[in-house]
Amino acid sequence: MEHRQPQKVVVVGAGPVGSLAALYAATRGDDVELYELRGDLRDTSTTPLNFTKSINLALSERGINALRHSQHPPLVNSIIVETIPMYGRMIHGLSTTGAPTQSPQAYDVHGRHISAVDRGGLNKRLLDELDKMPNVEFFFNHKLTGADFQGRKAWFEVRRQPEERSGPGHRAPEIEVSFDLLLGADGAHSAARYHMMKYAQTNFSQEYIDTLWCEFTIPPSPENDFRISPNHLHIWPAGDFMFIAIPSLDKSFTCTLFGPTSLFENLKNVKNSSHSPLEDLFTEQFPGIIPDLISRQDLHEQFNRNPHLPLINIKCNPHHFDGSVVIVGDSANAIVPFYGQGMNAGLESVRILFDYLDNHGVYAANKNADEVQQARAAALAAYTAHRVPDAHCIADLALQNYIEMRSDVRSPIYRVRKFVEETLDRYLPGLGWATQYSRVSFGNERYSKIAQQASKQGKILAMSLIAVAVGLIGGGGGLVARRWYHARQGTGWLSKWLMTAGQEVERRRR
Ligand SMILES: Cc1cc2nc3c(=O)[nH]c(=O)nc-3n(C[C@H](O)[C@H](O)[C@H](O)COP(=O)(O)OP(=O)(O)OC[C@H]3O[C@@H](n4cnc5c(N)ncnc54)[C@H](O)[C@@H]3O)c2cc1C
Repeated sequence: MEHRQPQKVVVVGAGPVGSLAALYAATRGDDVELYELRGDLRDTSTTPLNFTKSINLALSERGINALRHSQHPPLVNSIIVETIPMYGRMIHGLSTTGAPTQSPQAYDVHGRHISAVDRGGLNKRLLDELDKMPNVEFFFNHKLTGADFQGRKAWFEVRRQPEERSGPGHRAPEIEVSFDLLLGADGAHSAARYHMMKYAQTNFSQEYIDTLWCEFTIPPSPENDFRISPNHLHIWPAGDFMFIAIPSLDKSFTCTLFGPTSLFENLKNVKNSSHSPLEDLFTEQFPGIIPDLISRQDLHEQFNRNPHLPLINIKCNPHHFDGSVVIVGDSANAIVPFYGQGMNAGLESVRILFDYLDNHGVYAANKNADEVQQARAAALAAYTAHRVPDAHCIADLALQNYIEMRSDVRSPIYRVRKFVEETLDRYLPGLGWATQYSRVSFGNERYSKIAQQASKQGKILAMSLIAVAVGLIGGGGGLVARRWYHARQGTGWLSKWLMTAGQEVERRRR
């Protein structure tokens, strides 16, 4: 068999995306070094207590598909068996009599589901799989501090344990590492991206949205069971803010309060006060939570103990420089979490990136080092051209979905559109009609294509509404004719309704 000289790939960041990227490279025969700022996630004695990421998240088709393409089937199975299927949203509210209500909204007419997964568990499975590979070396407690992407060298600070540090003037030692390709997967505040931007002419935008999040836990019941349905993503929508709950394997729920900074300011507990804005919020806006699912005391403790964290939206273009560096995951596009796609999109980026490397012959036999480097540069350029529009698109869709989750799920127009689209999907599948949510969560179509498709569907729906209304008018009597006359003048209720419905459909489309 023809032989290929292994390339040295340095991966920065051992989160889910960096770990999968390391696995893809190692499986293709590269010599992989994985550098991670923190200690080994699997070592409970070194896992930091102030872990600033949500405990569990929603894994969907794109993420699973990328795991499948890693060519390690037992890995995929070991991850899937530790997930909980969520078939839809459960919308919590109040009845007219003031009693808490729960209304399920299925995600998909075909019964497909997204899966709740433990973030740490998924990451550990990936690290375990990498551990089995002889061509992978881990460097935990190593922080990327500098890089020369022309000379293909990077510098890492070796972070010692506190007891090894020797006083105020102490500087951590640094090591120099050479590479053929550096794969940056070091999260939203990426050092790889920062250093890459000194070489590549990068358009970059970073936006903090006016929303903070804080995590809570609903514990299992005294009988050690789930307190609410484990097969739904629970939402308490409240207009400008919301509370959500995702099931965990230990029968608890990891919950998140999302809201504007001003809300969090108001909620901060006033000492020695009998009045609690936090309890008032939960009683008035999130029915059924206190004291049935979370005790009042736990609510206060968790709100005071758990960090109140911001949400960031980062876009950049390109995602690479030459043939020597490429960034993936949050490092390249950090998005708000409302479509449950951040990690899924990052894992998908790894699959697409390696498709480009494969298709450009980077792993073909009988290529010398220069030819491989040229093929890699061409592959990375083509990857950026393909991926950036999709990365930007899912960032925008995720922002829009916040409005859907925190308020639209209760609106009749939202439900009518969902009903119509799902009915067409179920009974006339040949039309290729589907909701935007199901295309994003249950398929692998490009995000940008999905957005175009949703826009097209929105327009057809608006036109159909108008046609139906006109048909009704045609069959009506004098009253309807008069209304139609007014509608044409733009002053009657019908024209207003049609305009509002059309605008609503257009707004959602955007
Ligand atoms: C509240 C919330 C809910 C979410 N829910 C979902 C969801 O349901 N579904 C979904 O798909 N996504 C979700 N996400 C997004 C998801 O968490 C991220 O997209 C995902 O973690 C990105 O993975 P990553 O590997 O790119 O980055 P990270 O997970 O951030 O990993 C980066 C790694 O790089 C290391 N690192 C950083 N700097 C350096 C350095 N200088 N040198 C070396 N190492 C470094 C870090 O220690 C870290 O281990 C959610 C996010 C939030 C905030």
